[in-house]
Amino acid sequence: MILRIIGHGYHYEMENLCRIFFPNEKITLSYDRSSAEAKTVETVLDGDKIEISCDIDGGKMLGSADASACENTELEMGKLLFRVLSSVTGIVPPWGVLTGVRPSKLMTKYINEKGEEEAMRHFTEDLYVSDNKARLARNVAKAESGIITLSSPRSFSLYVSIPFCPGRCNYCSFVSHSIDTPSARKLVPGYIEKLCEELSRLGGVAGELGLKLESIYFGGGTPTSLEASQLDTICKSIEDSFDLSALREYTVECGRPDTVTVPKLRTLLLHNVNRISINPQTFSQSVLDAIGRRHTVEQTLNAYRLARSMGFDFINMDLIAGLTGDSYDGFCESLDTAVTLAPENITVHTLALKRSSDLAVNGADVADGEEVAKMLDYAQKRLGESGYSPYYMYRQSKSAGNLENTGWSKEGRECLYNVFMMEECHTVLAAGAGAVTKLKDPHGDYIERIFNFKYPYEYIARFDELTDRKEKIKEFYGSRI
Ligand code: SF4
Repeated sequence: MILRIIGHGYHYEMENLCRIFFPNEKITLSYDRSSAEAKTVETVLDGDKIEISCDIDGGKMLGSADASACENTELEMGKLLFRVLSSVTGIVPPWGVLTGVRPSKLMTKYINEKGEEEAMRHFTEDLYVSDNKARLARNVAKAESGIITLSSPRSFSLYVSIPFCPGRCNYCSFVSHSIDTPSARKLVPGYIEKLCEELSRLGGVAGELGLKLESIYFGGGTPTSLEASQLDTICKSIEDSFDLSALREYTVECGRPDTVTVPKLRTLLLHNVNRISINPQTFSQSVLDAIGRRHTVEQTLNAYRLARSMGFDFINMDLIAGLTGDSYDGFCESLDTAVTLAPENITVHTLALKRSSDLAVNGADVADGEEVAKMLDYAQKRLGESGYSPYYMYRQSKSAGNLENTGWSKEGRECLYNVFMMEECHTVLAAGAGAVTKLKDPHGDYIERIFNFKYPYEYIARFDELTDRKEKIKEFYGSRI
């Protein structure tokens, strides 16, 4: 489709809004009227006059608004575009004109500035957010602020990246290497050696600066695609390098149930890991097959029961709404199964097909946003009725229907790391390939990022360069503590 941008510079927001209504269209920007297609949207700012015209497969719609009285011309234009596209398509996206920004962060800001009632009014009336989503954003905002207060100016979290998996799922856009190939397997010992060296250096810096480690998170990839002895080496390295006396939470993502074994779980328990994630994504075998996730539903159930029987009392399960081959009923059944198992956390994601996923490369369509919205509404209702509350939320670009990912938790069992990281309320020191260290000014909002090399072979080969980059941590804190 053609999106015409005439007389203004708000192309980014206009394109984002068009993408919500037409997720599978290639959108071409045009800055004049020389070209047209079956779907053409024109956005014009002429002095104080905003005009939007749409020609969608022969269905035409026009709208205009006066920008002279409003404080934010971009928002006013976005709202007009939203109304016109809603009329012409019959779709009313539940997050209204909110694109990009994290709803709970915005809600927190408005509650602090204007009070809860006015913040809710602003969301629903000015930003066209549905009542249901506004309530979700408010509930998350309240839960997050309780957790953020647990973080002190000197506290930090540690992220450990294990970018290996047992085979690659076809919706995945993470940098993760299938550990099944001989070349990847050969990389692992060298990777662990460098990872431990980086952990040791980070621990040294944290100690020198007097920082307090509050949470640890192993992500990836699938950390448990490593052998038990390899996990043991990494955990020991952390114990040797960091002061763990203030540690509140230690998470290891097991992710793929087919990697969960007795020796690995025993190793994690031995090192006081107190939260794990076992991710079904769906409890439908045909959907697992369609998304190229090479494990069975039975393996998920067995991994969960095994972890429980060995004493893990803090388990998260991830589900995804909008997976290839899934349906509303199928998603609801998966959610019901998860609720019956009663893990402490259930995280409900919306499928976001990034360019680097196999599905996107092969031209798969984004799931129907309206159907995925219904799945999330079911999740919200069912989880709410089953003793779970939403405690963190974010949205990814290219998610079906511009919808959200929400972490749900039983009372008092929220994952601290997820909130600390998402709200950027304290420093995250990150080790391993693809990891990003985020340094947070202890007395303000300023954040500085240090990027590690993305791929394991680069991380190993250019490790010395990384060491230089990490010198910035001391510089950053030098003038701020
Ligand atoms: S297990 Fe997770 S990280 Fe690994 S390939 Fe599948 S979706 Fe990606």
